[in-house]
Amino acid sequence: MGLGQYKAKRDFKKSPEPTGGTGKSNVAGLSCFVVQKHQARRLHYDFRLELDGVLKSWAVPKGPSLNPADKRLAVHVEDHPLDYAEFEGMIPAEQYGAGKVLIWDRGYWRPIKDPRKGLVNGKLEFELYGERLTGKWALVQMKHPPDESSDNWLLIKEKDKSIDREDGDRLLNAHPESVISGRTFGELDG
Ligand code: MN
Repeated sequence: MGLGQYKAKRDFKKSPEPTGGTGKSNVAGLSCFVVQKHQARRLHYDFRLELDGVLKSWAVPKGPSLNPADKRLAVHVEDHPLDYAEFEGMIPAEQYGAGKVLIWDRGYWRPIKDPRKGLVNGKLEFELYGERLTGKWALVQMKHPPDESSDNWLLIKEKDKSIDREDGDRLLNAHPESVISGRTFGELDG
């Protein structure tokens, strides 16, 4: 996909978001993931996985659930630059995605099966090593009818010791704040 769509949607003279000028991974051999809580017109969580020099991205309206029975809609959106994983702040009014962004979780991820095939075939299976999200997860593309490609995927917690069947939203509710700065939306400038 590349960063063409990302750049075309944004005016970097007006938005503090990264231009995508730098694209280096922090740690050799490890790919990063980030979950950004984004108070745009509607609150959602942006789920991003580093792959091939960009952040593959999905917007998850309800956020990740720790209950394997929950299948959370994850809308595939444009690739973002790697340095977007550092971004926390305010996207000004009138700009694309206007609203506050905070880093809700960050860490590394490891594919369980070939992620490039998974993106094409509509099923990504992976492990997360974040501060809040850990263990096995899957992103599964919804296909109606079966051959049709769709931007709608489902983010699903796979069964392991990090599940929570009683309250899949326990982490989301317990931690409204940034995992990096400790700030809530109310404490972000802007
Ligand atoms: Mn967003």
